[in-house]
Amino acid sequence: MKFKLILIVMFLVVSFNLAGAEKINVVATYPYIADILQKIGGENIKVTSLASGDMDPHTITPRPSFIAKLRSAKLVVINGGQLEIGWLPPVLQQANNPQIIPGSNGFMSLMDFITPLEVNREISRAQGDVHPEGNPHIHLDPANILIFASAIKDKLSQLDKAREIDYQKNYEAFKQKWQLKTNEWETRLQGLKGKYVIPYHKLYSYFLHRFGIQSASEIEPLPGIPPSARHLAGLIYVIKQQHVELIIQDVYHSSQGAKFLKEKTGIPIVIIPHDIGAVKEAVDIFSLFDEIVKRLTQK
Ligand SMILES: [Zn+2]
Repeated sequence: MKFKLILIVMFLVVSFNLAGAEKINVVATYPYIADILQKIGGENIKVTSLASGDMDPHTITPRPSFIAKLRSAKLVVINGGQLEIGWLPPVLQQANNPQIIPGSNGFMSLMDFITPLEVNREISRAQGDVHPEGNPHIHLDPANILIFASAIKDKLSQLDKAREIDYQKNYEAFKQKWQLKTNEWETRLQGLKGKYVIPYHKLYSYFLHRFGIQSASEIEPLPGIPPSARHLAGLIYVIKQQHVELIIQDVYHSSQGAKFLKEKTGIPIVIIPHDIGAVKEAVDIFSLFDEIVKRLTQK
């Protein structure tokens, strides 16, 4: 009898723990968002990213698994600024989950928390610009990462009040470590301060802006438009005139233009990741920035 009672008590304790440890299903559109969520949510959440980091973030091809993931999500966190406009709306609609529709409590766009760079209302998407609301590549400024981590902490606390203290604790730990790393990156990038680079696309504007590195131009004439021979010829002039140090190439655009410029001017090309998983060294938000800084400062 006593043994039975012990068994019942044990069963109750185990069931209670299981119920208490229920994880919140969270979906992120890109790996960097998933990683911030994981760092703040810890063991309380189960997070998955729809896109992977080696893809062009503007043109993700939706898979049927996206719908299944969104269907069971309690929270979806997106980049915003129209970065997902070409692929997310139809999958969100098909998932038909009222908890995560735009405007609901379970929908969050990170672009809402910062002031975007490069807002140019005169150039429309019709003319080829894929950034009509300003530059959406907001995550490559370390100061923005901290803003997003704080907003995510607030959102998780709101959805899961009982475990608010966990989110607060995780955020404080993250913030401390992130600030130390930001100072380290700042120091390591001193040599590039005020210098000129040319990226393929305006992927790194927030990063360059934060660390005082200048962009002389881009290999593409407008976001989303590949370079013409004439545009490349103009860049040869810019490289020589402004003593441009580096071409910054991402992992998913053709490097043909960059190679042509290297051939004509001798300028080095540096391939840098834009998200976690773009290169094998970038496994989380810390190593993503570590790797960018390392590649930019490697001579
Ligand atoms: Zn872009």
